[in-house]
Amino acid sequence: MKKKNIDRVVAPRPPHYVGDGFRVHNFIPGVNGLSMQRMDPFIMLDYNSKFYFPPSDRPRGVGVHPHRGFETVTIAYKGKVAHHDSSGNSGVIGEGDVQWMTAASGILHKEYHETEFSKKGGDFQMIQLWVNLPAKDKMSKPKYQGLTNAGINKFQLPDNGGVIEVIAGQYKDVKGTASTFTPVNLQNARLNKGGKAEFSFPANHNVALLVVEGSVKVNDEEIVPTDHFVLFKNEGEDFTIEASENAVVLILGGAPINEPIAAQGPFVMNSRAELIEAFEDYNLGKFGYLEG
Ligand code: MN
Repeated sequence: MKKKNIDRVVAPRPPHYVGDGFRVHNFIPGVNGLSMQRMDPFIMLDYNSKFYFPPSDRPRGVGVHPHRGFETVTIAYKGKVAHHDSSGNSGVIGEGDVQWMTAASGILHKEYHETEFSKKGGDFQMIQLWVNLPAKDKMSKPKYQGLTNAGINKFQLPDNGGVIEVIAGQYKDVKGTASTFTPVNLQNARLNKGGKAEFSFPANHNVALLVVEGSVKVNDEEIVPTDHFVLFKNEGEDFTIEASENAVVLILGGAPINEPIAAQGPFVMNSRAELIEAFEDYNLGKFGYLEG
Protein backbone atom coordinates (compact mmCIF):
# COMPACT_ATOMS: atom_id res chain seq x y z
CA MET A 1 0.00 0.00 0.00
CA LYS A 2 1.16 3.49 -0.80
CA LYS A 3 1.66 6.34 1.65
CA LYS A 4 -0.99 9.03 1.82
CA ASN A 5 0.76 12.40 1.98
CA ILE A 6 -0.38 15.65 3.53
CA ASP A 7 -2.02 18.08 1.10
CA ARG A 8 -2.03 20.98 3.57
CA VAL A 9 -2.13 21.94 7.23
CA VAL A 10 -4.83 24.50 8.01
CA ALA A 11 -4.61 26.82 11.03
CA PRO A 12 -7.86 27.73 12.84
CA ARG A 13 -9.59 30.83 11.52
CA PRO A 14 -10.73 33.56 13.93
CA PRO A 15 -13.75 32.27 15.89
CA HIS A 16 -17.35 33.40 15.51
CA TYR A 17 -20.42 32.62 17.57
CA VAL A 18 -23.26 30.27 16.58
CA GLY A 19 -26.09 31.49 18.79
CA ASP A 20 -24.45 32.56 22.03
CA GLY A 21 -23.23 29.14 23.10
CA PHE A 22 -20.85 27.92 20.41
CA ARG A 23 -17.61 29.81 19.79
CA VAL A 24 -16.40 28.09 16.66
CA HIS A 25 -13.60 28.06 14.14
CA ASN A 26 -15.10 27.11 10.79
CA PHE A 27 -12.96 24.69 8.79
CA ILE A 28 -15.47 23.39 6.20
CA PRO A 29 -16.54 25.00 3.91
CA GLY A 30 -13.91 27.65 4.05
CA VAL A 31 -11.75 30.12 2.24
CA ASN A 32 -8.95 27.67 2.93
CA GLY A 33 -9.68 25.28 0.05
CA LEU A 34 -11.83 22.97 2.20
CA SER A 35 -14.88 23.38 -0.03
CA MET A 36 -17.95 21.14 0.21
CA GLN A 37 -16.91 19.51 -3.06
CA ARG A 38 -13.33 18.94 -1.91
CA MET A 39 -14.45 17.47 1.43
CA ASP A 40 -17.54 15.61 0.10
CA PRO A 41 -19.40 14.01 1.97
CA PHE A 42 -18.38 16.39 4.80
CA ILE A 43 -20.12 19.68 4.04
CA MET A 44 -19.55 21.61 7.26
CA LEU A 45 -17.17 21.42 10.20
CA ASP A 46 -17.37 23.92 13.05
CA TYR A 47 -14.93 23.48 15.91
CA ASN A 48 -15.43 25.04 19.32
CA SER A 49 -11.83 24.93 20.54
CA LYS A 50 -11.46 24.64 24.32
CA PHE A 51 -13.06 27.77 25.77
CA TYR A 52 -14.12 28.68 29.28
CA PHE A 53 -17.76 29.76 29.62
CA PRO A 54 -18.49 31.50 32.94
CA PRO A 55 -21.50 30.39 35.01
CA SER A 56 -24.90 31.39 33.63
CA ASP A 57 -28.41 30.73 34.96
CA ARG A 58 -29.74 30.97 31.42
CA PRO A 59 -28.21 28.23 29.27
CA ARG A 60 -26.37 29.56 26.22
CA GLY A 61 -26.99 27.97 22.84
CA VAL A 62 -29.00 28.03 19.64
CA GLY A 63 -32.79 28.27 19.55
CA VAL A 64 -35.22 26.29 17.40
CA HIS A 65 -34.08 25.98 13.76
CA PRO A 66 -34.65 23.53 10.90
CA HIS A 67 -32.42 21.18 8.91
CA ARG A 68 -33.06 19.15 5.77
CA GLY A 69 -31.00 16.96 3.46
CA PHE A 70 -28.08 15.82 5.64
CA GLU A 71 -26.93 14.63 9.07
CA THR A 72 -25.50 16.63 11.97
CA VAL A 73 -22.87 14.92 14.09
CA THR A 74 -21.93 16.49 17.42
CA ILE A 75 -18.81 15.26 19.20
CA ALA A 76 -18.28 16.49 22.77
CA TYR A 77 -14.79 16.74 24.26
CA LYS A 78 -15.49 19.10 27.18
CA GLY A 79 -18.77 20.32 28.64
CA LYS A 80 -22.30 19.13 27.95
CA VAL A 81 -24.94 19.93 25.34
CA ALA A 82 -28.67 19.35 25.70
CA HIS A 83 -30.63 18.64 22.55
CA HIS A 84 -34.34 18.48 21.66
CA ASP A 85 -35.90 17.91 18.27
CA SER A 86 -39.33 17.85 16.66
CA SER A 87 -39.30 14.07 16.14
CA GLY A 88 -39.43 13.77 19.93
CA ASN A 89 -35.79 12.86 20.45
CA SER A 90 -33.75 14.56 23.12
CA GLY A 91 -30.62 13.88 25.07
CA VAL A 92 -27.53 15.20 26.76
CA ILE A 93 -24.24 14.89 24.93
CA GLY A 94 -21.56 14.61 27.61
CA GLU A 95 -17.78 14.40 27.47
CA GLY A 96 -16.72 11.71 25.03
CA ASP A 97 -20.25 11.20 23.69
CA VAL A 98 -21.42 11.60 20.12
CA GLN A 99 -24.81 12.49 18.73
CA TRP A 100 -25.55 11.46 15.17
CA MET A 101 -28.77 13.09 14.02
CA THR A 102 -30.18 12.37 10.59
CA ALA A 103 -32.26 15.42 9.63
CA ALA A 104 -33.08 13.93 6.19
CA SER A 105 -36.60 15.08 5.17
CA GLY A 106 -36.62 17.67 7.92
CA ILE A 107 -36.57 18.34 11.63
CA LEU A 108 -36.58 21.30 13.96
CA HIS A 109 -34.13 21.23 16.83
CA LYS A 110 -32.46 23.35 19.49
CA GLU A 111 -29.03 22.97 21.01
CA TYR A 112 -28.09 24.44 24.41
CA HIS A 113 -25.48 24.04 27.11
CA GLU A 114 -26.86 21.52 29.59
CA THR A 115 -28.45 23.29 32.58
CA GLU A 116 -26.10 22.09 35.35
CA PHE A 117 -22.99 22.68 33.23
CA SER A 118 -24.32 26.12 32.43
CA LYS A 119 -24.86 26.98 36.11
CA LYS A 120 -21.35 25.91 37.08
CA GLY A 121 -19.58 27.12 33.95
CA GLY A 122 -16.45 25.42 32.68
CA ASP A 123 -14.35 24.42 29.71
CA PHE A 124 -16.37 23.68 26.62
CA GLN A 125 -15.01 21.91 23.54
CA MET A 126 -17.10 20.43 20.71
CA ILE A 127 -17.17 19.63 17.04
CA GLN A 128 -20.21 19.82 14.83
CA LEU A 129 -19.87 18.07 11.53
CA TRP A 130 -22.46 17.94 8.75
CA VAL A 131 -22.46 14.76 6.66
CA ASN A 132 -24.26 15.00 3.34
CA LEU A 133 -26.86 12.46 2.21
CA PRO A 134 -27.13 11.11 -1.32
CA ALA A 135 -30.18 12.30 -3.32
CA LYS A 136 -31.99 8.99 -2.77
CA ASP A 137 -31.85 9.40 1.03
CA LYS A 138 -32.34 13.16 1.43
CA MET A 139 -36.11 12.82 1.98
CA SER A 140 -35.96 9.71 4.16
CA LYS A 141 -37.31 9.65 7.70
CA PRO A 142 -35.35 11.54 10.39
CA LYS A 143 -33.29 9.36 12.71
CA TYR A 144 -31.36 9.79 15.94
CA GLN A 145 -28.33 7.93 17.27
CA GLY A 146 -27.16 8.95 20.72
CA LEU A 147 -23.80 7.29 21.37
CA THR A 148 -22.41 7.34 24.89
CA ASN A 149 -18.64 7.05 25.18
CA ALA A 150 -19.00 3.68 26.93
CA GLY A 151 -21.07 2.39 24.01
CA ILE A 152 -18.60 3.39 21.28
CA ASN A 153 -16.55 0.45 19.97
CA LYS A 154 -12.84 0.78 20.69
CA PHE A 155 -9.53 -0.57 19.48
CA GLN A 156 -6.75 -0.75 22.08
CA LEU A 157 -3.39 0.21 20.60
CA PRO A 158 -0.40 -1.95 21.56
CA ASP A 159 2.25 -0.85 24.08
CA ASN A 160 -0.15 1.37 26.04
CA GLY A 161 -0.29 3.64 23.00
CA GLY A 162 -3.88 4.64 23.63
CA VAL A 163 -7.26 3.87 22.12
CA ILE A 164 -9.12 4.42 18.86
CA GLU A 165 -12.82 5.15 19.34
CA VAL A 166 -14.51 3.89 16.21
CA ILE A 167 -17.55 6.15 15.94
CA ALA A 168 -18.21 5.13 12.32
CA GLY A 169 -16.50 3.05 9.65
CA GLN A 170 -13.87 0.54 10.63
CA TYR A 171 -10.48 0.49 12.35
CA LYS A 172 -8.67 -2.82 11.82
CA ASP A 173 -11.11 -5.47 13.13
CA VAL A 174 -13.34 -3.03 15.02
CA LYS A 175 -16.52 -1.82 13.33
CA GLY A 176 -17.94 1.63 13.96
CA THR A 177 -20.90 2.05 16.30
CA ALA A 178 -22.94 4.53 14.24
CA SER A 179 -24.76 3.49 11.10
CA THR A 180 -24.15 5.67 8.04
CA PHE A 181 -25.82 6.02 4.62
CA THR A 182 -22.57 6.13 2.63
CA PRO A 183 -19.06 4.94 3.56
CA VAL A 184 -17.83 7.26 6.34
CA ASN A 185 -15.00 6.83 8.81
CA LEU A 186 -15.11 8.92 11.96
CA GLN A 187 -12.67 8.02 14.72
CA ASN A 188 -11.16 9.61 17.81
CA ALA A 189 -7.56 8.66 18.49
CA ARG A 190 -6.76 9.19 22.18
CA LEU A 191 -3.01 8.68 22.29
CA ASN A 192 -0.57 8.59 25.15
CA LYS A 193 2.75 10.35 24.61
CA GLY A 194 4.75 8.26 22.13
CA GLY A 195 1.64 6.30 21.10
CA LYS A 196 1.42 5.61 17.40
CA ALA A 197 -1.51 4.65 15.17
CA GLU A 198 -1.65 3.72 11.50
CA PHE A 199 -4.68 4.36 9.32
CA SER A 200 -5.62 3.10 5.88
CA PHE A 201 -8.41 4.51 3.73
CA PRO A 202 -9.17 4.15 0.01
CA ALA A 203 -7.25 6.72 -2.06
CA ASN A 204 -10.44 8.28 -3.46
CA HIS A 205 -11.92 8.98 -0.01
CA ASN A 206 -11.59 12.56 1.21
CA VAL A 207 -9.55 12.25 4.40
CA ALA A 208 -8.55 14.76 7.06
CA LEU A 209 -7.78 15.06 10.75
CA LEU A 210 -8.17 17.68 13.46
CA VAL A 211 -5.84 17.83 16.45
CA VAL A 212 -8.15 18.48 19.40
CA GLU A 213 -5.60 18.08 22.21
CA GLY A 214 -1.82 17.93 22.31
CA SER A 215 0.19 17.52 19.14
CA VAL A 216 1.01 14.70 16.74
CA LYS A 217 3.66 13.92 14.18
CA VAL A 218 2.05 12.87 10.89
CA ASN A 219 3.84 10.34 8.65
CA ASP A 220 7.01 10.73 10.76
CA GLU A 221 7.44 14.09 9.04
CA GLU A 222 5.36 16.98 10.22
CA ILE A 223 4.40 18.02 13.75
CA VAL A 224 0.83 19.33 13.84
CA PRO A 225 -0.16 21.46 16.84
CA THR A 226 -3.45 21.70 18.76
CA ASP A 227 -6.49 23.06 16.89
CA HIS A 228 -4.89 22.51 13.47
CA PHE A 229 -6.51 20.59 10.62
CA VAL A 230 -4.70 18.34 8.17
CA LEU A 231 -6.07 17.60 4.71
CA PHE A 232 -4.63 14.55 2.97
CA LYS A 233 -4.08 14.04 -0.74
CA ASN A 234 -6.33 11.71 -2.75
CA GLU A 235 -3.35 9.51 -3.52
CA GLY A 236 -2.15 6.57 -1.49
CA GLU A 237 -3.92 4.91 1.40
CA ASP A 238 -1.75 4.77 4.52
CA PHE A 239 -0.73 7.39 7.04
CA THR A 240 0.47 7.40 10.62
CA ILE A 241 0.13 9.70 13.59
CA GLU A 242 2.43 9.66 16.63
CA ALA A 243 1.71 11.60 19.80
CA SER A 244 4.46 14.09 20.65
CA GLU A 245 2.58 14.54 23.94
CA ASN A 246 -0.75 13.12 25.14
CA ALA A 247 -3.10 13.85 22.25
CA VAL A 248 -6.66 13.58 20.99
CA VAL A 249 -7.19 13.58 17.24
CA LEU A 250 -10.39 13.32 15.22
CA ILE A 251 -9.91 11.41 11.98
CA LEU A 252 -12.52 11.79 9.26
CA GLY A 253 -12.74 10.12 5.88
CA GLY A 254 -15.48 9.35 3.43
CA ALA A 255 -16.34 8.26 -0.08
CA PRO A 256 -17.38 11.30 -2.11
CA ILE A 257 -21.09 11.24 -3.04
CA ASN A 258 -20.30 13.14 -6.26
CA GLU A 259 -23.72 14.76 -6.73
CA PRO A 260 -24.54 18.45 -7.22
CA ILE A 261 -24.70 20.39 -3.93
CA ALA A 262 -27.19 23.23 -3.44
CA ALA A 263 -26.77 24.68 0.04
CA GLN A 264 -28.42 27.58 1.78
CA GLY A 265 -28.48 28.15 5.52
CA PRO A 266 -29.79 25.02 7.25
CA PHE A 267 -30.71 23.16 4.04
CA VAL A 268 -28.42 21.14 1.78
CA MET A 269 -30.08 19.73 -1.32
CA ASN A 270 -29.13 18.88 -4.93
CA SER A 271 -30.84 21.75 -6.75
CA ARG A 272 -32.10 25.29 -6.26
CA ALA A 273 -35.69 24.11 -6.82
CA GLU A 274 -35.31 21.69 -3.89
CA LEU A 275 -33.97 24.51 -1.72
CA ILE A 276 -37.00 26.66 -2.52
CA GLU A 277 -39.24 23.69 -1.69
CA ALA A 278 -37.42 23.29 1.64
CA PHE A 279 -38.07 26.93 2.58
CA GLU A 280 -41.72 26.58 1.49
CA ASP A 281 -42.22 23.36 3.48
CA TYR A 282 -40.60 24.98 6.50
CA ASN A 283 -42.88 28.02 6.24
CA LEU A 284 -45.90 25.70 5.87
CA GLY A 285 -45.00 24.03 9.17
CA LYS A 286 -44.17 20.68 7.55
CA PHE A 287 -41.08 20.24 9.77
CA GLY A 288 -43.29 19.69 12.83
CA TYR A 289 -43.35 21.68 16.02
CA LEU A 290 -40.84 22.29 18.79
CA GLU A 291 -41.36 24.59 21.73
CA GLY A 292 -38.72 27.34 21.93
MN1 MN B 1 -28.61 22.60 14.16
